[in-house]
Amino acid sequence: MTEPNETLSPAEGLGVVLDEHLRWIGQWHRAAFFHQGQGGDRVSAPASFAAWCVAAKKDDLAHQPAVEKLVHLHEQMHRHAKLVLLQAATGDLPSESDYDSVIGRFNEFVMQLRRVERAFGAAASGLDPLTGLRSRRGMQEALDREMNRFRRAGQPFCLALCDIDKFKGINDTYGHDIGDRVLASTAAVISRGIRSFDEAFRMGGEEFLICLKETSLDEGFHVIERLRIDLQRSPVPLPDGREVAVTASFGLVEARLETPVDEVIVQADRALYQAKNSGRNRVVRYGVDMPVAKAG
Ligand code: GH3
Ligand code: MG
Ligand code: MG
Repeated sequence: MTEPNETLSPAEGLGVVLDEHLRWIGQWHRAAFFHQGQGGDRVSAPASFAAWCVAAKKDDLAHQPAVEKLVHLHEQMHRHAKLVLLQAATGDLPSESDYDSVIGRFNEFVMQLRRVERAFGAAASGLDPLTGLRSRRGMQEALDREMNRFRRAGQPFCLALCDIDKFKGINDTYGHDIGDRVLASTAAVISRGIRSFDEAFRMGGEEFLICLKETSLDEGFHVIERLRIDLQRSPVPLPDGREVAVTASFGLVEARLETPVDEVIVQADRALYQAKNSGRNRVVRYGVDMPVAKAG
C-alpha cells in the first residue's frame, strides 16, 4: 500500500507522494508519445497527494503559503498533463510547447515538494528551517529548565531579545529572498557570538531570543554588546557585489528568582522597545538603562 497513512509523518508522506509522481510521469510519457489513439487518458493521477493534504490539515504547517503553492503547482501540472493525454487519445503527438509546459510544471512541483519536505522535517526536529536556530517550539521548556537550574544552583541567567532594525525596509529595497538571507546571516552571527551551551531561538519574523546561561547582567551585557558590534560589522554580500548593512536592537534582562520566566520575557521586550525608541542599534539593560516597571 503506497498511500500516505496516519503512521507516516508529513515529511515521510511527501516521500510517498514523490515516489508515486515519479512513476506517474513515466506512464504519462509512454501514453503521450507511444500510445496515440489508445485511450491514454486512462493514465490516472496518483491519489497520494490528496490523501497527504487531508492528513496534513491536522498540522499547522499545512496552512503555510509554501504548502498552498505546492497544492497549486500540483493542480496545474495534472491539468496540463491531462490535456496532453486527451489530445494523444485522438491520435495527436504533443507539441514541443505542450511537452515543456507539463515537464516544467512537474519539475517545479518536485522542487517545491522537496522544500516543503525539508521544512516539515526541520519543524519536527524543533529547528527553524531558514536560520537553523531552534524554533519557538521547545523554547518554553528550555527556559523552564534554566529557571529550575537557577533555583537549584543559585546562578542567574540572562535573556536577550534581539530585533533586526528596519527589516521591513530591507525586504522592500532588496526583496524577500535577500531579506531571508539577512535573517540567516543574523542567526549565524548570533550563533558564533554565544557559547555552545547558550541557546538561541527564532521567536518569529526577525526577532530572536538568546538565553545566556549562568550569566550575570554585567557579563551578559559584554556578550550582547560584542554581538551587536559583530552584526554591524558583518554586512550581507549580494550577488551583484553590493552589501546590505544590518543592525539590531537588544533588550537584556537578568532573571530573578521571584519573577516567572514569562514575565522575564516581557521585561526583555520592554527593554527592546526602549532600545528601538532611543535610536536602535543598541543594547538596553532592564533595570539599569531603564527603570524597573512598577508592579500592578
Ligand atoms: P524596527 O526597526 O522597528 O524593528 O522596524 P522593522 O521594519 O524591522 O519592523 P517591522 O515589525 O515593521 O517589520 C518586520 C518585517 O519582517 C515585516 C515582515 O514582512 C518581515 N518578515 C517577517 N518574517 C519574515 C521572513 O521570514 N522573511 C522575510 N524576508 N521577511 C519577514
Ligand atoms: Mg519585529
Ligand atoms: Mg525589526
